[in-house]
Amino acid sequence: MFRIAVIPGDGIGIEVTSQAVRILKKASQILNEQFEFTELKAGGIAIDAYGKPLPEETLKAALASDAVLLGAVGGPKWDALPYEMKPEQALLGLRKGLELYANIRPVIMFDSLIDASSLKPEVVRGIDIVVVRELTGGLYYGRPAGIFEEGGTRRGVNTMTYTVPEIERIAHTAFKLANTRKKKVTSVDKANILHTSMLWREVVNKIHKRDYPGINLDHMYVDNASMQLIRNPKQFDVVLTENMFGDILSDEASMLTGSIGMLPSASIGEKHALYEPVHGSAPDIAGKGLANPIASILSAAMLLEYSLKQKELARKVFRAVETVLDSGYRTADIASADKHRLSTEEMGRRIENAL
Ligand code: NAD
Repeated sequence: MFRIAVIPGDGIGIEVTSQAVRILKKASQILNEQFEFTELKAGGIAIDAYGKPLPEETLKAALASDAVLLGAVGGPKWDALPYEMKPEQALLGLRKGLELYANIRPVIMFDSLIDASSLKPEVVRGIDIVVVRELTGGLYYGRPAGIFEEGGTRRGVNTMTYTVPEIERIAHTAFKLANTRKKKVTSVDKANILHTSMLWREVVNKIHKRDYPGINLDHMYVDNASMQLIRNPKQFDVVLTENMFGDILSDEASMLTGSIGMLPSASIGEKHALYEPVHGSAPDIAGKGLANPIASILSAAMLLEYSLKQKELARKVFRAVETVLDSGYRTADIASADKHRLSTEEMGRRIENAL
């Protein structure tokens, strides 16, 4: 028995997650293994029900599960709430609570969607990059942080900080992943300016030399990396970077493929793992059946690969998505005039049938 905590969240999170669960139910039949799904609340929906974005029972049940599948949280209804009460606090709380230090975001170009990219076909055809982003350190968690009053002037403060063990464990994640791929890691930093980056580079070099000499490692400043991702994305295999740089670069990389509705992610720790689409709750299209469920379905495929070690079945889900796209079926975000437009649920069903 494999226990999956399902946290649909808000907006289109609810719609896309139900399609990912559909695929996981099919996967459980194929594997002839029982999956137990427990639905939990987090985000705006939890604020409405319990007065807080991450209720204790949600975190407790997530900790007790074998894997967590998340939709997305947030929406205009909760935007005016104070910082600690915002739906997005649920994400930070889950990452911290489950100790999910590595965020893995594959960026893969489907041949049939090349026209959906805003870049030239020859630049994007065949893109296959994985961004490995450190998720529980750096500027988003460093202390001191806050808005302080000093001599009548308000000052906003954040602190970027990394320890050697934090850098070491994420470097291992990236090198191990590269070992299963094209054996190339590009570590992105700002070591010409930032002390955290100087330490980052030193530690990445040390781990590389000691444990992974067979991997091709290079270093790139973050400003250059953001340029190179657009200029020549195919030069990258595994991109290793810290929290904030990874936040920005992974969204940039995601746009290479055309729609944010296509991109899955996994957040991994020593004991727990959480899978979620890269996109947010998309309030502009929520409840209309317009959302693309593929990012969530591919997140379910990552769950099969990383948590259940079912790499072959994960590949089959990927191929089922490819088959449906090759047959000309699209959701609105990736549609063109000559294609068949499907609702969120119709797309989920097609992929289930293809699987
Ligand atoms: P968003 O990702 O929700 O939407 C950006 C744009 O992409 C919108 O036009 C939306 O319609 C479109 N889009 C996103 N996912 C799509 C899909 N699956 N299919 C088709 N179109 C899709 O980002 P936003 O508008 O900046 O944020 C909306 C809310 O989501 C905010 O409250 C934000 O804080 C929250 N958010 C949550 C997460 C998360 O839960 N991990 C991530 C990002 C944003």
